[in-house]
This record gives sequence, C-alpha cells and structure tokens, in this order.
Amino acid sequence: MTRRLTGFQPTGRLHLGNLLGAMLPLVDDQASTESIAMIADLHAMTMDHDPSQVRSATLEVAAVLLAAGVDPDRTPIIANSQVPEHTELHYLLECVAGFGEAARMIQFKEKSAGDRPVRLSLLTYPVLMAADILVHDAGQVPVGDDQNQHLELARALATRFNGRYGETFTVPDGVRPESAARIMDLADPTRKMSKSTPSAAGRIGLLDPPELIRKTISRAVTDTVGVVRDDPQNQPGVSNLLGILRACTGKEPGDFTSYGALKAEVTDAVEALLAPIRTRYAELADDPAYIRQILAEGKARVRPRAQATVRRTRAAIGLLD
Ligand code: ATP
Ligand code: MG
Repeated sequence: MTRRLTGFQPTGRLHLGNLLGAMLPLVDDQASTESIAMIADLHAMTMDHDPSQVRSATLEVAAVLLAAGVDPDRTPIIANSQVPEHTELHYLLECVAGFGEAARMIQFKEKSAGDRPVRLSLLTYPVLMAADILVHDAGQVPVGDDQNQHLELARALATRFNGRYGETFTVPDGVRPESAARIMDLADPTRKMSKSTPSAAGRIGLLDPPELIRKTISRAVTDTVGVVRDDPQNQPGVSNLLGILRACTGKEPGDFTSYGALKAEVTDAVEALLAPIRTRYAELADDPAYIRQILAEGKARVRPRAQATVRRTRAAIGLLD
C-alpha cells in the first residue's frame, strides 16, 4: 500500500483551510490509506520564532489532529524534530542538491525579499522537506499549489540520488485527495486562507469562539453582483462561501436568494462542524502529557523504517555503517 505523508507547520493557529484541505481528507481516507501525520516543527525554525510558542503550537496541532478524528492507532502523529533521521537524511540530501536549485524556490525568494536577515535554514528547508518525505518511503504527498515546487525538488533529489548511487528512494507523487477543499481568505478571496497572513480578519480559526466565527463570516467580502452563483472568476468571495458550505456539509448547496442567507447557512455549517472538535480539543488540551505520549508512540512506530532508509542512504553514498 502506498504510504502518504501529510505535513503541518506549527507556525500559528490552525484554520478552517487546514481542516477542510488536509485534516479531514486524512481522517476520511484513514481506513483505506496508510498515512503519517507530521508536524514540521523544524520548519518553524526557519523564520523568527518564539520558542515557547512553537512548543505550544506543536502540541496544539497534535491535539487538533486527534480532536478532528485522526486515529493514532492507524495514523502515527509525529514531530519531525523528534525523529532524528529527518535531520540526518537532510544533510545527506544536501549533498545531492544544488545551491542554485534551492535559491530558485519561489517561497525562498518571497520570504527572503527585503532587508531583514535570512536564516540559512530558510534556503535549505525544501531539502529538509524532501528528507521528511523520503525518509518514510512516502509515495504520496498531498500538497497545495504553494508546495508544488518543493515536491518537485523532492522528486528531483530522489531521482538524482537513485541515478547516481543506486536505487535508494521511492520517488513521491503529489496528490490531491478527492475530498480536499481549497479555502480562500474571507477578507481577500483571491488569496488562500493562511496561518501566516498577518491579518486574521479573513481567517476562521479552528478554536475561535462561535461569536468570532459568526462575525468573521458576516464580514466576508462578497461583490456587487447580488446573485449567489458559483463563479470563482467573477465572484470569488461568494464562490468561496459556497465551497466552504459544500466542504462542511458534504452536500451540494441549495439556492440562496441573498448573500445574507448564504452567510447564515455557512455560519451554521461551520459551527456544526467545529463544535464537536472544539469540545474534544478542550478535553485533550487539559492533558498535555497524553499528547506528548501520542507523539512518542508515533515516533516509535515510524522510526524503524526511517532508520532503515538512513542506513540504506549512508551505504549508498559511501559512509561506514
Ligand atoms: P503557513 O502560512 O504557515 O504556510 P498554512 O496555512 O499554509 O500555513 P500549512 O501548515 O503550510 O498551513 O499547511 C498544512 C496543510 O493544510 C497542508 O496540507 C496545506 O496544503 C493545507 N492548507 C493550508 N492552507 C489551506 C487552505 N487555505 N485551503 C486548503 N488547504 C490548506
Ligand atoms: Mg503553507
């Protein structure tokens, strides 16, 4: 069976896009697909960060994954910093990666633009992401458009290493699970909802109180057309609300006579989806020792394969065992 790796960066508060685009598809496919849920806490080190916030965000992502229905007996939940093979493979892959190749990454160019000093790890992080995938022999990686270039790099590094040193890695494919929705920012529906957008005006946090969610949806940017139609080109805001409704209910939305009516139904659907997750999260958040134990169990489950991959890589590239 092909293994799937889904990653989450502990870089901020999780939002509805993370749930509908990545977490629920992972939960839905749990019975038929072997997955690993990875929290990329090492990736959070590539930008200015507050150590205590990264630590709490890592625990929060793990708890939300559990609250959303990830079954840790089926799907190991790991933090990439806790499985040292990720960093060991990272270095070995740097030895087949080119400087120019890393410097060409759009995300690096965007995040390094300006006068602020840039961490070297920001440049090399796509190689770490390649290691995250290859170390687990993952054949499928659900990725949004923003990660396509990084996945291509992982494929290129795997192929190059295999060609140069002999068959070592599974070359991963990018996949888009059927149920994965792409959620846009409610205040700027031409941009995806993101953890790292400075303004929270268009973001529905998974742990936001219901009143705040109601307000965020009621203020969602629409248009002056005045008709509820699924037309992402001309009515991105309305289409996004329809998409959220479809993803939350799993049903094709009915007809609406006004934007207000649409927003009211979206609010109810989001609340119906989030309320039980919020309740389970509150219970789990009370017990951080349990969350840490889940991460330790995840690590123990994935480690033998990761160690085997690193052993294979070391032997192929010319290191002693
Ligand atoms: P950041 O801004 O820090 O990159 P993010 O919101 O993009 O945060 P990630 O941690 O990069 O979140 O991504 C976690 C998962 O959520 C990935 O599988 C990603 O494809 C998915 N995802 C992120 N944003 C959205 C969105 N707006 N709609 C659907 N899926 C999303
Ligand atoms: Mg992202």
